[in-house]
Amino acid sequence: MMSETCTREISKADVERFLFGKHITACPACGRFRSACDLDVQSITCQRAPAAATSLPTGAAPVDVLMVVCQNCGAIQFHDRTVVAKWLDCQRRAK
Ligand SMILES: [Zn+2]
Repeated sequence: MMSETCTREISKADVERFLFGKHITACPACGRFRSACDLDVQSITCQRAPAAATSLPTGAAPVDVLMVVCQNCGAIQFHDRTVVAKWLDCQRRAK
């Protein structure tokens, strides 16, 4: 029932479609137009350490982010993985 979309694999091509769909077509640091060859996407999960979350009791949930690295200047952008997955799903339904 709750078939969550956030667990599916998001490929580099998917991320590129998301970035272009959002009109994020240039690196904010160096301004270089993004193409398939100067974008590196890595998926990482940040797990907040429970010991460090004393002021934030609900902060133990893992945060799924996609790390987009500009291969021209090395600038790193983070995108919420669930946001990207939802956007991709909407695009698929619209077809
Ligand atoms: Zn750059």
